[in-house]
Amino acid sequence: MPALDLALDPPRRARYAFVSHGHSDHVARHDGGIASPATVALVARRYGRTHLTPVAFGETIERARHRVTLQPAGHILGAAQVIIDAPDGRRLIYTGDFSVRARRTVEPAVPVHADILIMECTYGHPRYVFPPDEEIQERIRSFIERTLAAEQIPVLLGYSLGKAQEAMAIVAALGYPVCVHPAIGRLAEIYRAFGIDLGSYIVADGTVPEGYVVIAPPGARRLPLPRPVRTLLLSGWALDPSTPFRLGVDEAVPLSDHADFAELVAFVRASRPARVYTTHGPPSFADYLRDLGFDAYHLGTYQLPLF
Ligand SMILES: [Zn+2]
Repeated sequence: MPALDLALDPPRRARYAFVSHGHSDHVARHDGGIASPATVALVARRYGRTHLTPVAFGETIERARHRVTLQPAGHILGAAQVIIDAPDGRRLIYTGDFSVRARRTVEPAVPVHADILIMECTYGHPRYVFPPDEEIQERIRSFIERTLAAEQIPVLLGYSLGKAQEAMAIVAALGYPVCVHPAIGRLAEIYRAFGIDLGSYIVADGTVPEGYVVIAPPGARRLPLPRPVRTLLLSGWALDPSTPFRLGVDEAVPLSDHADFAELVAFVRASRPARVYTTHGPPSFADYLRDLGFDAYHLGTYQLPLF
């Protein structure tokens, strides 16, 4: 946004940036910028020193006569949408990665009216509609029960920032003892510092006590564990039937930290934007929105993320 000298989630170093959340594809070494306090803490934990200034949800700063406000995006701890109010009264909202479901570790994104809406649409295809949370939780419970009954170690695989902490809270609430990979434990400390209850857990030191559920990043699925393990991938891509085979896991459940297709469409309707720009998902989602009567365009290239 040249008028504000403000770049939104720039992938490369910028003079001044809004960083929506701490996932690596949204973080670079900027000269300055803003992010929520939790995102600043997560970026500092993962990458060391940062020049980002923390701005709390609901707090407004001024930049080149524009008012800039952050509000929850519901994706992972600290994930923010940015609301930019221009001096002429027009409003732009950039969602960053977002989810509208109430979850255990993050506040959901709430749609707000915008003249221009720039939205993430990773799952912007009609085949991506996630089941209700109760069903997802029941499938996780069933996987754990079957695996323990077969005297194997249940290993839940989820991205180390966000998905893994949500899984920790779910598994603890289901009543199972939790053992996490050290990379997940390091980031869980930041969640706890920001008052998020993840339940009790231990950090893996090579052995897993009897009856524990292991939570590990997807890349760590060949962990040296003493007994046979069964793996369950937690990812929205579980809706693709080929996912377990393609990613070499035993099973997959669509626990996602993004909005699904129906939620994306509902979000646009609630925002009532004069114009929509879509990012990160299939370009056809903008065509779909145009068919619904929205002035919608796709921004950027489309790459299928794995997790
Ligand atoms: Zn993300």
